[in-house]
Amino acid sequence: MIRSKLPNVGTTIFTRMSQLAAQTGALNLSQGFPDFDAPPALLEAVSRHVSAGHNQYAPMTGLPVLREQVAAKIARLYGVQVDAEQEITITPGATEAIFCAIQAVIQPGDEVIVFDPCYDSYAPAVALAGGRCVHLQLSDGDFRIDWQAFSDALTPRTRLVVLNSPHNPSGALITREDLDQLAALIAGRDLYLLSDEVYEHLVYDGVQHASVLAHEALYARAFVVSSFGKTYHVTGWKTGYVIAPPALSAELRKVHQYVNFCGVTPLQWALADFMAEHPAHVEELPGFYQAKRDLFCDLLHTSRFRFTRAAGTYFQLVDYSAIRPDLDDVQMALWLTREHGVASIPVSVFYQQPIPAQRLVRLCFAKREETLRQAAEKLCAI
Ligand code: PMP
Ligand code: GLN
Repeated sequence: MIRSKLPNVGTTIFTRMSQLAAQTGALNLSQGFPDFDAPPALLEAVSRHVSAGHNQYAPMTGLPVLREQVAAKIARLYGVQVDAEQEITITPGATEAIFCAIQAVIQPGDEVIVFDPCYDSYAPAVALAGGRCVHLQLSDGDFRIDWQAFSDALTPRTRLVVLNSPHNPSGALITREDLDQLAALIAGRDLYLLSDEVYEHLVYDGVQHASVLAHEALYARAFVVSSFGKTYHVTGWKTGYVIAPPALSAELRKVHQYVNFCGVTPLQWALADFMAEHPAHVEELPGFYQAKRDLFCDLLHTSRFRFTRAAGTYFQLVDYSAIRPDLDDVQMALWLTREHGVASIPVSVFYQQPIPAQRLVRLCFAKREETLRQAAEKLCAI
């Protein structure tokens, strides 16, 4: 008998729904990834660097040229200077950065506050570090943080708070006022912050992303995580980064050097070239994805799904209570895939205690226009 360290963990919903979509031939709007390719210049840069012999280990902290590009982007977008040498670490995916940050600061018995619905990788990483997640719920409907409930949940054992904005799965955004509230509530406490900002460039309707990087008091105790996968349409490259003040970065690197040691070398070279040559890519992303969101939502207008347009990310939540209120969301996601040819993600899987009356599934709109039209046609016919 294996004494499992993760007895309650199975195969993730993303793997299961993508497999079901493949088996049934459904359009896959479940797992979050684009069905279009990255910019040709980025792809060409990979071949160039592979051919040029950039195929051995990268430095443990990431290629200096890529870290410099990340620092330049942050200075440009958020108006803050981070030290590329001491504060930026390139990681094999945001997932590895999240895992390492949690292992670096969580001791057995520590509590970690997470907000449900929350991304699936946080809780297992906390469990492996011997910590305990304290799950608070975002408000049902607009997915905002209840700061009173947060304040009530703080204990001397609280060691880490995990934020995620733009938020997966809801698309909701944390505001600068939220960050100020948080800073006031944790002032003087011995705890850290993990800010998952992998969708930092996917914020719509002219709103500015409120990054923890631009909040001095919070950044002083934060790990801020991002993912090149989302920003450059290359989720399969599993390349991300984490930014933290020097002392925190040093602790994180102690873990990172034994989890994976470094990220993939030619991909880092290619990203550095592309960022240098196409700095406007990140500024163009909101418009690019907002057009997809709006096309999809306009097409769904005549369906029986109800929704509020996502404020960020490439996910759109839809409420199906006018269609099959008798089904819970897992049943609904299976029914939609098998009977109507569109795969989605049920939202309840992101909760420790799902809200019984909630009837929401998540649809990924990082898709070609043709895919979005086909999906909307199927969804409107239900
Ligand atoms: N955090 C969130 C909220 C995500 O949606 C994802 C998506 N994959 C990740 C982290 C992990 O990113 P990566 O693929 O770069 O590991
Ligand atoms: N972040 C992706 C999503 O939310 C999934 C990544 C994964 O499959 N682990 O769909």
